[in-house]
Amino acid sequence: MASDPFDAIKGRVEDVGRRLGLDPGLVEILNRPKRELSVNFPVRMDDDTLETFHGHRVQYNMALGPCKGGLRYHPEVDLKEIRALAALMTWKCAVVGLPYGGAYGGVACSPKEMSERELESLTRRYVSEISIIIGPQADILAPDVYTDERTMSWAMDTYSMNVGYSVPGVVTGKPSAIGGSVGRGDATARGLMFIVEEVFKDRRMNLHGATVAIQGFGKVGASLAHLLGEAGCKVVAVSDSQGGTFSEVGLDIESLRLHKLSRGRVTGFGDGQDIGGRELLELECDLLVPAALGHTIDRENAKALGARMIAEAANAPVTPEADRILDAREILLLPDILCNTGGVTVSYFEWVQDLQYYFWGLEEVTTRLRDVMLRAYRQARAVAEEEDVSLRDASYMVALRRLENAYRYRGIFP
Ligand code: NAD
Repeated sequence: MASDPFDAIKGRVEDVGRRLGLDPGLVEILNRPKRELSVNFPVRMDDDTLETFHGHRVQYNMALGPCKGGLRYHPEVDLKEIRALAALMTWKCAVVGLPYGGAYGGVACSPKEMSERELESLTRRYVSEISIIIGPQADILAPDVYTDERTMSWAMDTYSMNVGYSVPGVVTGKPSAIGGSVGRGDATARGLMFIVEEVFKDRRMNLHGATVAIQGFGKVGASLAHLLGEAGCKVVAVSDSQGGTFSEVGLDIESLRLHKLSRGRVTGFGDGQDIGGRELLELECDLLVPAALGHTIDRENAKALGARMIAEAANAPVTPEADRILDAREILLLPDILCNTGGVTVSYFEWVQDLQYYFWGLEEVTTRLRDVMLRAYRQARAVAEEEDVSLRDASYMVALRRLENAYRYRGIFP
């Protein structure tokens, strides 16, 4: 992310807070992270050298419950970005009504260039470093960019070894063999699908045959491509960090997934035509899903965007300037804090199951996820209509009201 992504979120909270008539002192609390821990730690690499890594864990707000948030491995991880992601998590949990505050963590590293052993050592040492502030009642980790259920297994084991007994509830997104939930793997994509289906219904648009472009083909992007294909959409383009692939008749997602698995990229796919990341954004289509990194849609490319609707699977993919351009162009935007909350919702279900040592079936998880997503969307839609604001502002309004209520009942200590 280029400019400080946290500034954009703070600005939105100030605007919406003013509109709701919130106490400016409360807005000030909500616009500051509660606690930030930065750590430097060594890892012995495969060639026997020692490398020092820099990581962070930001616990943004705990008014509604324990903190919850992802863990990201990426060369560009920095405290500003992690702070912004922790703030977004706070608003996300509040929008869907989960009893959580927001957190986020990350380590600046190049995971693609590291061996499995190096990644395991890095994870174990990082988790040990931050173990003084995390825990199932304090702060629960989840997978994000370049981390997965393997990372979560190492994190859970490290925390458990340090306290002396198994603590499955300290992470979510782990394998079901060690307390993970069924349905967590594709929960973000599935949650987004429930909202997209409802929006298409609202607009009397047909999902069957709708054209879709997806930026990012990782955990979220690939699951979404699969679910959208299953719903009868034509996924005409997909990209990853190295470029994109396009097919006017729609890509065969299962073959593309196998191609990506063997080649490590989506370009060079037999049934598709290679395109650049910018071309993907400019394609005329019914729905564009950014499912890669933050701030990929900016003032420049927003003007040339070809989609009629955008669903933000990624966190903060649209800059505030781009947001205004898209609004003026009447492109409907389904905001991240509403539509990519399926993952944290099923993470919440996983945590509840871990605390009870009692596990649910897939149907129960999916039905409950659908209820949460549709309730949140309908509530935000109603506020958007009543207040004549965008779905993003409406979602922030719902979230801020929940936080305000929590502070009202809890009071300010001491
Ligand atoms: P991932 O690491 O599995 O996938 C990221 C994908 O983005 C990869 O395919 C990568 O090649 C691609 N990418 C990177 N830079 C790109 C670029 N410039 N253009 C196109 N593609 C690019 O990560 P993920 O878990 O799928 O997360 C994707 C996004 O969704 C992130 O913004 C993340 O914060 C957000 N998100 C994830 C979850 C979750 O449950 N994993 C939940 C909510 C939000």
